Amino acid sequence: MLRRGFWAMRAAHQSQNAAYSSLAGSALLRSQAYVGGRWVEADGGGVFAVQEPASGQRLAEVADCGPRDAKAAVRAAYEGLPGWRVATSKERSNLLRKWYDLMMKNKDELAKLITAENGKPLNEALGEIVYAASFLEWFSEEARRVYGDVVPTPSPNRRILILKQPIGVASIITPWNFPSAMLTRKAGAALAVGCTVVVKPAEDTPLSALALAELADQAGIPAGVFNVIPSSKSNTPAVGEVLCTDPLVAAISFTGSTATGKILLRHASDTVKKASMELGGLAPFIVFDSADLDLAVAGAMASKFRNTGQTCVCANQFLVQEGIHDAFVEKMVKAMHKDLRVGSGFDEQTTQGPLINERAVEKVENQISDAVSRGACIVTGGKRHSLGGTFFEPTLLSNVTTDMLCTQEETFGPLAPVLKFRTEEEAVAIANAANVGLAGYFYSRDHAQIWRVAEQLEVGIVGVNEGMLSTPEAPFGGVKQSGLGREGSKYGIDDFLEIKYVCFGGL
Ligand code: ADP
Repeated sequence: MLRRGFWAMRAAHQSQNAAYSSLAGSALLRSQAYVGGRWVEADGGGVFAVQEPASGQRLAEVADCGPRDAKAAVRAAYEGLPGWRVATSKERSNLLRKWYDLMMKNKDELAKLITAENGKPLNEALGEIVYAASFLEWFSEEARRVYGDVVPTPSPNRRILILKQPIGVASIITPWNFPSAMLTRKAGAALAVGCTVVVKPAEDTPLSALALAELADQAGIPAGVFNVIPSSKSNTPAVGEVLCTDPLVAAISFTGSTATGKILLRHASDTVKKASMELGGLAPFIVFDSADLDLAVAGAMASKFRNTGQTCVCANQFLVQEGIHDAFVEKMVKAMHKDLRVGSGFDEQTTQGPLINERAVEKVENQISDAVSRGACIVTGGKRHSLGGTFFEPTLLSNVTTDMLCTQEETFGPLAPVLKFRTEEEAVAIANAANVGLAGYFYSRDHAQIWRVAEQLEVGIVGVNEGMLSTPEAPFGGVKQSGLGREGSKYGIDDFLEIKYVCFGGL
């Protein structure tokens, strides 16, 4: 068994390396930081390794920025601000559009980079690039619609004008699960309205962010407007502290875990910075007796297993009404066996890449053993995959109850725990017991129930008979401890704007 795993893993790595090495010499493969329009080494010349998630094999060494680099990047962004904020909205729009065009032109290379450093299947990586680019397109359009107001006056000799102005320098900290899309969703909005940014990408996936810096440079985005400083896991807290406390920074925008978000909010409080936070979720996926079973299973598969279960809107717990429960479990397991293939992201057959790192695997293992010790049954999967590394078997647990870890903490892996419920009130109560509320899904064909449940679920995003919700036109964000603010949509620019009231008197 062990030996089979070794050879399978070696084959997977060979196909991965072949695809990745086709990037060697690519202008998009960058390893230095991008600050003030220049590619620079970290202060002191430190570097850290970027590893392919399954094997731990080294893909590249990138600049390991520390707090001094962070200060320099903030300074560069601050110096880039006066020119950028007075550029016309049409000028900013045109540059964002050029950046978008370059992303689309280079989408295949960008996708390979994501698959190499994140592990997700190549067609999902391509999907991410198109999705990421769509935020630059969307915000290039929104740039020209940052309207103020003229408000009716209560006094005849005054007029009231409301201006929307860029807040200033924004610090952006992004996660590894969507290394391109989380960057463009934030930076697109910030740049559109006239802010400049410093981006700190996740230590696992800095190559995608650096490739986007190369394309921003090629698009002609002026020096200092867009800066990227990669940093290792050990340098990250100090870099994060500078990005959230430096007086030259006006706003922070973060996507990641709730625990890290709280640290950053504490840092930001001293200088009262505006903060937007996209934090963890615990998405309920509710299937009522009246649901279209096939539609529910298709939605469940898409919502649970995209990115190998590593998205913050992934279904975290399946609540299934007793009348449809057994049929749902049976169909879901069939679909898992038929549609899911674990392997290298570069293999065309693969739908489930490796998990990002060993910690992620341990978390899934721990949730499974906790659930089993409390009475859950493993219907399929349940352990590390024979490919080895951080590959994991797609898993479904039944007999799950609300006292298990897998229903209380975000999984971020290919684990589908199924709970049986009796009444609508019971399902809504279980869903709303969470202290987070990002996405929620439910399947029903009862119109009155659809209105009731959509209104009652304590989440920021609801999928009714739909498992894939993200699009630049719609607002993305959560309630409770899932965060602050909304990204994408016409609301996505608000986190980077100040509202100024101008009173004209003496008229
Ligand atoms: P995960 O546990 O899924 O990796 P994190 O919240 O730790 O989620 O990571 C999301 C982003 O936050 C990454 O860019 C990571 O480097 C960054 N990060 C983690 N800890 C800190 C910190 N103390 N200060 C600033 N950024 C941090």
